[in-house]
Amino acid sequence: MAYKKFKADQLFDGYHLHDHDKVLITDEAGRIENILAVSEAGDGIQSFSGILTPGLINCHCHLELSHLKDVIPPHTGLIEFLCSVVTKRGFDAEVIQQEIIKAEKEMYDNGIVAVGDIGNTADTAEVKSKSKIRWQNFVEVLGFTDEKAEENIEHYKSVVNILEQKLQTSNPDKSGQVLKHRTSLVPHAPYSISPKTFKLINQLTKDQVISIHNQEHPAEDDLYKTGGGEYLRLFKIFGINESPFPVTGLSSIRSVLPHFNNGQTIFLVHNTFMPEEDVQFAKKYANKNGLTLIWCLCVNANLYIENKVPPVEMLMTNDCPLVLGTDSYSSNWQLNIAKEIQSISKHFTSLPLETILQWATINGAKALKWDDVLGSFEKGKKPGVVLIDRSFEVSKKIL
Ligand SMILES: [Zn+2]
Repeated sequence: MAYKKFKADQLFDGYHLHDHDKVLITDEAGRIENILAVSEAGDGIQSFSGILTPGLINCHCHLELSHLKDVIPPHTGLIEFLCSVVTKRGFDAEVIQQEIIKAEKEMYDNGIVAVGDIGNTADTAEVKSKSKIRWQNFVEVLGFTDEKAEENIEHYKSVVNILEQKLQTSNPDKSGQVLKHRTSLVPHAPYSISPKTFKLINQLTKDQVISIHNQEHPAEDDLYKTGGGEYLRLFKIFGINESPFPVTGLSSIRSVLPHFNNGQTIFLVHNTFMPEEDVQFAKKYANKNGLTLIWCLCVNANLYIENKVPPVEMLMTNDCPLVLGTDSYSSNWQLNIAKEIQSISKHFTSLPLETILQWATINGAKALKWDDVLGSFEKGKKPGVVLIDRSFEVSKKIL
């Protein structure tokens, strides 16, 4: 059998960062054979400058919003940002498709091999059916009131059906193996889901991987603690004049996490304003109730919207499993995990690069339950081989 051999300044295997003396060996199709010392690897080694890493995992994106690139200016603050997304997202269907095509290609070329992708619509189904990326589709429910909960859920179930039908048998790779995409229903955020809607989503997502935007702004807590605050501005756009949610006197995560008890893996996305006591509450609740929590960081999006970074060190101190996401083109300059790594190392200078690379690869693969194939250079896996330059400006898939 013909082998491919790669080395670079550094080689990250999904767990550890090695120096230039290690060689990655794969078969022609990119299936991992071994990592050997240069002295044992023989000839025919391709040499690169930069870091070789397994394919990158983007745990939070909204591919369907790619047409909002450069539409909403940076640093508006979350509430203004959300009002803009809601009022400005309507574009010509042709433009929406063109921008989805471009964004999917950008992610594939820059080394992203799997995406946890939020969508309120099935606009991305066509592009995904031809994509070489693995998709965990999160069909995102918006449902402000209990009265409309059932009708709403039926609508989003039809979106799930379209995605499932379109993606089910697509993408045979060279060996004829069908990639395993997945689709689940998920709640958008504590400030857009009524109690009954939460209950229905919990029933419909037994043992699935789901996600929720969490504590991205302090007003989310105000809403549940007092029934007031800045979110009322967003609700007005939907013709709602007062908070439709129960006033619990508690933070938003303490108010909504108890709706879940069905074996789910839940991605908590953003956590920019999540205090340590809530992190500890959430971990305790999850342990008691059979949930797995994953903390997803979208640092460039936080910088774009609020010019603020999440409490990364505190999350690490509390042993929270961390993964990375780009969020959408409405709130990022690019859809590129290497640039997220760059941003994190710039803002948290004492963090070892090895740790951030783990979040971008093996942690993401485990969180999406695709670590049987993705996330590390372990024999038999086919995780993709990606080259990143050492300043994290440019990344590309080389196999
Ligand atoms: Zn998002």
